[in-house]
Formats: sequence, C-alpha cells, structure tokens
Amino acid sequence: MVLLGGSGVGKSSLAMRFGRDEFYTTSPTVGCAYMTRVVHLSDVTLRFEIWDTAGQEKYHSVTPLYYRGAHAALLVYDISKRETFIRAQMWLKELENQYIQGSTVIWLVGNKGDLAQNRQVSVQEGQGLASHKGLFFIETSALSGEHISELLQSVAHRVYESIGGHQG
Ligand code: GDP
Repeated sequence: MVLLGGSGVGKSSLAMRFGRDEFYTTSPTVGCAYMTRVVHLSDVTLRFEIWDTAGQEKYHSVTPLYYRGAHAALLVYDISKRETFIRAQMWLKELENQYIQGSTVIWLVGNKGDLAQNRQVSVQEGQGLASHKGLFFIETSALSGEHISELLQSVAHRVYESIGGHQG
C-alpha cells in the first residue's frame, strides 16, 4: 500500500495509525517511511507493507518506482485545505499517466475529519470526484482514529478481490 498526496495532509500519521495504532503530535514524517500491518479477513490473513513518501512529494513528484506494483494506493487530502484536494487530483493524473489503475486499487482519503469546523472540502465533493474517477472514498482522522480500521478492512477486501481471492 502506498500513500500519496500533498505535504502535511497526514500521510505519515495515517501510516503510523495503520502500523502501530498511534498518533504523534510531533512531526512523525521522520523515520516513518515504512510500516507493516496484518489484516484478518474471514478466511484469509493479509500482510500489508505500507509505504509513506517520506517527504519526496515536496518536490512535486515521486518516482513511479514508488507506486508501480502497489496493490493499493491511498490518495490523501486534508478536508480543511482545499488546495490539497486539487493536489490529490494532480496525483491521480500522474497515476493515470503511468497506467497503474488496472492493477492498483485506489482510494481517495479525506483526512483530518476531526477538523470539520474548518472544512473546505465537502463530503459530497470527495464522493463526487471518487465516483467520477472510479475510486473508493472515505473520510478519516489519523488523530482520533476514526474510520481507520474500516479503511484497512476495506482495502484488504478490495486488494484480496483484485488478486483473484474470494471471501467464503
Ligand atoms: P504528511 O506530510 O502528509 O506525512 O503529514 P504528517 O503525517 O506529517 O502530518 C502533518 C501534520 O498534520 C502534523 O502536525 C500532524 O500531527 C497533523 N495531522 C495528521 N493527521 C491529522 C488528523 O487526522 N487530524 C489533525 N487534526 N491533525 C492531523
């Protein structure tokens, strides 16, 4: 699983939640480029390798080697910063240009759901973009942990399906 999106949207914090179910208020980007997480579905157990860009996105691009071959890509934006929603759409174009969509399950993730009072991107906009582009959509909060386990379960289901597995 790879995490993509603008700087500061919470990619490292999400990776930390997935990997250790923790949230750090101090800058977690340092030293958090890679995590693993085991997810149990009803009749199968999947082990995820979770890659965070470790700040590479600051240079407005990451090498396609980073996401090529990934089973799942999470395109993350911050619901309280509209420019990060625009940025997520640019990342999506980059993914499309690299023709990875067929083999990679892509989620649009509106993070920082706990900042609803500062919301600049509505749920409807997120859902609209996702359905227009054929992506899955969810809003999360790495801070409160909201919808983190739902997202992981959902990613696991879809990835398992995409590699030809069927739940009994
Ligand atoms: P990255 O640059 O995308 O990896 O973002 P970070 O994970 O480093 O997070 C950037 C800042 O946003 C940090 O100060 C985090 O503590 C904060 N942050 C991350 N996720 C959340 C969240 O869900 N809610 C709130 N309120 N802050 C968050």
